[in-house]
Amino acid sequence: RTLLAVRGVSKQYGRGRRAQRVLDEVSLDVRQGEAVGLVGPSGSGKSTLALIASGHLTAEAGEIDLLGEPLPTGRSRADRHRRARVQLVMQDPWDALSPRLTVAEQLGEPLALLGSPGGDPAGGDPAEQIAGALSAVGLPTSARFLGAYPHQLSGGQLQRIALARALITEPAVLLADEPTSMLDPSEQARLLVTLRERQSELGLGLLFISHDLALVRKVTDRVVVLDHGRVVESARTELLCAAP
Ligand code: ADP
Ligand code: ADP
Repeated sequence: RTLLAVRGVSKQYGRGRRAQRVLDEVSLDVRQGEAVGLVGPSGSGKSTLALIASGHLTAEAGEIDLLGEPLPTGRSRADRHRRARVQLVMQDPWDALSPRLTVAEQLGEPLALLGSPGGDPAGGDPAEQIAGALSAVGLPTSARFLGAYPHQLSGGQLQRIALARALITEPAVLLADEPTSMLDPSEQARLLVTLRERQSELGLGLLFISHDLALVRKVTDRVVVLDHGRVVESARTELLCAAP
């Protein structure tokens, strides 16, 4: 089943003579339980595509389908809930985290706004869900850590928290744009392999953006290559990224 379908998306920044076309009729699919790598040179349009596919930015042309229906663009509660089924995590954790909230509050906020995992109103105990989300990304669940503020934590810890925050409501699709760049390489690999295992269990669709081909090879089933805003290659990971 296709969770996220990107169809013929074109995007330009600026207007008139200054216009720069950054995506040119890009199409790609993320299916249930599948991890797709999105790679390509810096400036090829990867982050722009992730912003569009998660509804944070609009495109001039093309469509985004989430769970078989157009990604809603409105500000109503229902639209926001549906959009939250696709979660974006960017490289800079400060995009997702508030400096004024403790770790527990950063994770409690999406639960309070969106209800429990998968949008199921029955839910569970928020404290348990928060502890589970922290353990899943390798963070402590002590009272001291739960009460910490972002400025007390390292960039790597903040990136883990941003990931936990995106996953706590059990979205259908996670778009992860260099989500672990502040961790050291062995920590990155460990975290992503853990994420990959959980992802297969939950049937989550993952679009993983990275310039690190070794990580992409470890974590993804399929790779899409962007160059100058066009898809120039799309193949099974083992065909595109041979082991060194
Ligand atoms: P990538 O993620 O592959 O590095 P981006 O999507 O970030 O690529 O950027 C694609 C192109 O669009 C680059 O040339 C970049 O400079 C430009 N760009 C990105 N964001 C903006 C913006 N908000 N306004 C204008 N140009 C932008
Ligand atoms: P580390 O502890 O690993 O050096 P930091 O926590 O200092 O990392 O910073 C992580 C990222 O967040 C960096 O990209 C930094 O520029 C950004 N950042 C840090 N503090 C703030 C802030 N108060 N507001 C916005 N961005 C910040």
